[in-house]
Amino acid sequence: MNKTGMTSLWENSFTKSILKQMPNCLLKDYDLRMEQSRCRFNIDRTVFFTYILLAAEFSNLLICLITNFKIRHVIYINCSTFLLILSILAILVFYFTRNLLTDIKKWSLIYRTFWCLYVIGAITFCFVEYRSQFTMTNYLLMMVAISIFPVFSVKELLVFGGIAFVTQGIFILTIEPFIPENIQLYLITSIVLFFTSRLLRKSYYAVLLTKIQLEEMADTDSMTGVLNRRGFERRLKYIWAGCVRHNSNVMVAMVDTDFFKKYNDKFGHYAGDKCLTTIAQNIAVDFKRITDLFARYGGEEFILFAAGLPDNKIEEFLNRIITRIESLQIEAGDKSVSDYVTVSIGCVSIQAVPGLTFEHLYQKADKELSNAKKNGRNAFSLNGKIYSGKCADAI
Ligand code: GH3
Ligand code: MG
Ligand code: MG
Repeated sequence: MNKTGMTSLWENSFTKSILKQMPNCLLKDYDLRMEQSRCRFNIDRTVFFTYILLAAEFSNLLICLITNFKIRHVIYINCSTFLLILSILAILVFYFTRNLLTDIKKWSLIYRTFWCLYVIGAITFCFVEYRSQFTMTNYLLMMVAISIFPVFSVKELLVFGGIAFVTQGIFILTIEPFIPENIQLYLITSIVLFFTSRLLRKSYYAVLLTKIQLEEMADTDSMTGVLNRRGFERRLKYIWAGCVRHNSNVMVAMVDTDFFKKYNDKFGHYAGDKCLTTIAQNIAVDFKRITDLFARYGGEEFILFAAGLPDNKIEEFLNRIITRIESLQIEAGDKSVSDYVTVSIGCVSIQAVPGLTFEHLYQKADKELSNAKKNGRNAFSLNGKIYSGKCADAI
């Protein structure tokens, strides 16, 4: 396998392990976040529903046992036992796997399997009930459960609700005598519950979206639009743990705008704000992986964190930032280093091992930054070595 293949393989398993640890509120992908939240919510609500099912089935069994043993009751007992076992199994599965499962495909498989088995069990009840009493209480209860407990996608709703709807329709049409009023009740309740489910789904998404937006707001620097210190620290906690587990190379860099006080003095704070925003956005373009973090750490300082980059890539990468900012050609407040606004970077890269803390690297990166400033600015200092901005060679 070639070198790139190796890197992407490492990246994949590393990213996967980070994704496992990362709470969904910190994921970059909005759709994935929404889907993960929906799956988690469905699992929680399904567990809640199994408690109700357990209570209902126990009382069902009890009633069947204390009344006469007719054939209908034997079927009822069988169905009740099936649903009871299903509920107990569901609770056990949910409780023993909810912290282990990280893949949303597996989450959805679990709650879908439950609802599929539940529909099969409940349909048997519907059949027994319709054949003996020509009523549809069990059908209504099942449809209410499907519509209000899980938040189903249209596809899921059409599959689960559809199976129940079609089989109940077959019972009404084939079991003699045919009762027209039942058709009316069956159609109206099915339609009402279908739209109730859609309505609940809509409001669930509205609440979820508001929650995500609030979380985003709390983690974002309102001026530059990049992560703020809180957002950075919240994400770093999970990524750092993954880096230590994988013993991966970690990089922490402090980026500081050169002579920014003078820029403000010369062009005003409004222009200063715009300048910082431009700088932030131009650095942010390189940070796309889930394990890359870039944030405004305070004032005119930014922080970078990346995992799994070898030192030669880090050099290349820091050099690109320095040259890119200067090439924006924003007129400088102090032209002793360059005619344009520049940044200096202090960076430290090291293998993450147990016991190593981010605070330790942060302090080291800060010292590297002073080193870069002392050595002429518009430069970066990486592990004690100074590199000028214009060429990637050490000076
Ligand atoms: P050095 O090259 O040594 O970093 O010099 P400097 O002038 O950039 O550093 P100093 O720490 O003396 O000044 C930082 C300035 O950044 C002072 C402060 O007014 C300005 N600053 C911090 N936050 C903001 C901001 O949000 N907007 C604006 N416009 N200016 C800011
Ligand atoms: Mg500063
Ligand atoms: Mg500065």
